[in-house]
Amino acid sequence: PHVMLIFGTRPEAIKMAPIVRAIEQSEGAVTSHVLVTAQHRHMLDQVMGILEVTADADLDLMKPSQSLAGYTALALERVTEHIAEVRPDMVLVHGDTSTAMASALGAFYNHVPVGHVEAGLRTATLNSPFPEEANRRIVTRLASTHFAPTEQARANLLAEGVSPSDVLVTGNTVIDSLHWVKNELLPRPEVAARLAERYGFLDPGKRLVLVTNHRRENFGTGMERVFTALRRLVERFPDIEIVFPVHLNPQAREPAMRLLGDLPTVHLIEPVEYVDFVHLMARAHLIITDSGGVQEEAPSLDVPVLVTRETTERPEAVEAGTALLVGVNGDLLVSEASRLLSDEAAYAHIVGLRNPYGDGLAAPRIVNHLLDPNGVTP
Ligand code: UDP
Repeated sequence: PHVMLIFGTRPEAIKMAPIVRAIEQSEGAVTSHVLVTAQHRHMLDQVMGILEVTADADLDLMKPSQSLAGYTALALERVTEHIAEVRPDMVLVHGDTSTAMASALGAFYNHVPVGHVEAGLRTATLNSPFPEEANRRIVTRLASTHFAPTEQARANLLAEGVSPSDVLVTGNTVIDSLHWVKNELLPRPEVAARLAERYGFLDPGKRLVLVTNHRRENFGTGMERVFTALRRLVERFPDIEIVFPVHLNPQAREPAMRLLGDLPTVHLIEPVEYVDFVHLMARAHLIITDSGGVQEEAPSLDVPVLVTRETTERPEAVEAGTALLVGVNGDLLVSEASRLLSDEAAYAHIVGLRNPYGDGLAAPRIVNHLLDPNGVTP
């Protein structure tokens, strides 16, 4: 089959790249056409180079001060036209972005079946996370094949009436990418030398806390509370330093600069390439994030995560004990971070827990299924 993979943001590229590579390894049994919308131009490009994926077509849809509706409408129109030209046998979309939602609809309008990668994640409310929860539910309704990362995600789909024969549990492809970076890129001497030079500003005598924050639902007071709590944390622990690659969205950037910009042990840096981020995660003592992907990756690197969100569609990490939801409650963030920074037994308990998000072989499972939908999954 000829499969079109459509994506537009950094996390989608990280999670779709292993599928593109697994298709290449099928030696023509499956062929791919990679369409990028470039919903997030710069952060997408940072990933494509590193993961060695090239686009067959690039719609370059990002515009300054673009509204959600403006982007989605444009993506729907342009993607629909592109699918009509290429006429693939299947369109693969990923996760919960506006790109995924518009592309699934575009495929549907062309009568092309949709495969949904990372299907079945759910929170209890349509409004949170906004707009991701609605996006992924819409994609579920339009998709004919659902690649669920976990058993829990599969159960969510079955509870909504999706037929069991249309769901395949694969693990999350982010672990495939993480393994690839760890095993293929980080060991290269030129990569190690570049990372050593680039992060030479880090103090080897301090414990590293890695922070990211970008969710729309936390814009405004939520982020302000998180950043104020981070201030308190560095004041309380002189032996830590924070590295915080700040998302390009001005609503995430402005409060970070305002509330943390003056602290010498808080390094606010630009978003980093994926290989750099994996290096920083592996080096971190603790991660504080609202990112979905980071929650999935961190357990494979034995780093505990505090999640600055009120809800999560990734309960597996919380159940496994590798992640803890602290919301945007500053006191809880400070007390839980303090506990992990001072209580060695509590910390040691988390390190070494099994990663519930897979074994790094999700992409070959997906490609085997594309080749033989009735075959048995390894
Ligand atoms: N990431 C990256 N560079 C950074 C921050 C994050 O490459 O500066 C990676 C991270 O390892 C993870 C993904 O980007 O795989 C997460 O993206 P993001 O937090 O934007 O989205 P989410 O996972 O919440 O959808």
